[in-house]
Amino acid sequence: LIQVRGLRKHYGDVEVLRGVDLDIGKSEVVCIIGPSGSGKSTLLRCLAFLEEYDAGDVLIEGELLGYATRNGKRVKASHAQINHARRNVGMVFQQFNLWPHMTAAGNVMEALQRVRGRSRDEARRTALAMLDRVGLAARADAYPAKLSGGQQQRVAIARALAMEPHIMLFDEPTSALDPELVGEVLQVMKQLARDGMTMAVVTHEMGFAAQVADKVVFIDEGRIAVQGSPHDVFHDADHPRLRQFLQNYF
Ligand code: ATP
Ligand code: MG
Repeated sequence: LIQVRGLRKHYGDVEVLRGVDLDIGKSEVVCIIGPSGSGKSTLLRCLAFLEEYDAGDVLIEGELLGYATRNGKRVKASHAQINHARRNVGMVFQQFNLWPHMTAAGNVMEALQRVRGRSRDEARRTALAMLDRVGLAARADAYPAKLSGGQQQRVAIARALAMEPHIMLFDEPTSALDPELVGEVLQVMKQLARDGMTMAVVTHEMGFAAQVADKVVFIDEGRIAVQGSPHDVFHDADHPRLRQFLQNYF
């Protein structure tokens, strides 16, 4: 579903991604772990083309993301082409970024109406179904300020799901939450995985990764240093930097 080949990205003099190759198959859950500053968020942002990349290919369902070829040269795709290519990619961030002046349902409806051109009634129906899916049907008309962090993050997940993505990207979705609220968000993500959603999840929740991931990817200094099944990565890999990193968790 997603193929990343030789992905490179730099900010100024710093090369943040230094040749990343990654495959994510349909219905696969890939958890991305690694030290702070290793390039995890940058990789995820490139997969949603929130960030332009310098070299390499990101193919989503066979379609090159963000670039087109003209006269044998790579040129940036048009806005329309970029939007077309990333219509199937949903993203959830550490900060939930809900509109404070809109209810939970309003937040979910917004892009459905504005981007997808759905009628108000249709958007409301979809929003209620999505809020139900994340266990928040009863809070549809609450404003974000009246919701806990975990509930707000679940609204953000419902908002992404409403666009019917084929893949969901999560960048540390529980890192901003109080510890007692982490579980409810992970529970929703587990259910998504069981429903067959393709997911790439940057996380520090090693228990979640061990339980849910088909593949765990350890990024270090802009490269994938180790990847494999959770068991291989957490127990067998003898990569020194990985061992050192995991010591913080086990
Ligand atoms: P963390 O675990 O702290 O979230 P990360 O693995 O997600 O880290 P990135 O956010 O991808 O790391 O950042 C990788 C490197 O790129 C860091 O050194 C960071 O300072 C740098 N960086 C990220 N975004 C920018 C930017 N917009 N401009 C300049 N440098 C950036
Ligand atoms: Mg990050």
